[in-house]
Amino acid sequence: MDRPLFWGPVVNPYWGSRMSRNTVSPAAVKARSERIENQSRHDGWKKPPRRIERSECITCDSCLRSCPPEFGAIFDNGLDVVIVPELCSGCPACVVVCPVDCIYVDEDWSPTGPDLWSYVELTAGRPA
Ligand code: SF4
Ligand code: SF4
Repeated sequence: MDRPLFWGPVVNPYWGSRMSRNTVSPAAVKARSERIENQSRHDGWKKPPRRIERSECITCDSCLRSCPPEFGAIFDNGLDVVIVPELCSGCPACVVVCPVDCIYVDEDWSPTGPDLWSYVELTAGRPA
């Protein structure tokens, strides 16, 4: 049987059936903005954040595009792609799309510095 020419939209399984990049709830956007404002991670997140191993990353941005917008935790930072641990729920949608498998659990994460926060703050109030 021939394959159909159109397979339909790619659905990120971690967004849930009612969530997409265009339909992030206002509450989710607000919650992300508060995490940015407070520069703190959600206490209820049980999984540790992830980190990108810089020496292995090929900067393809696949992870950045896959991080659910209600988290919006991945950024281009100069030549590097980085995860802001305070925004990362550990879900782990980015891990499954990384072609070189260089995104690791980061149990001992360090707080994000002021330079990156300045950049991240520009994305507050809207889905990343
Ligand atoms: S683990 Fe989830 S929330 Fe964290 S950076 Fe990856 S996709 Fe985003
Ligand atoms: S998907 Fe993997 S290789 Fe691509 S930018 Fe993200 S961490 Fe780097």
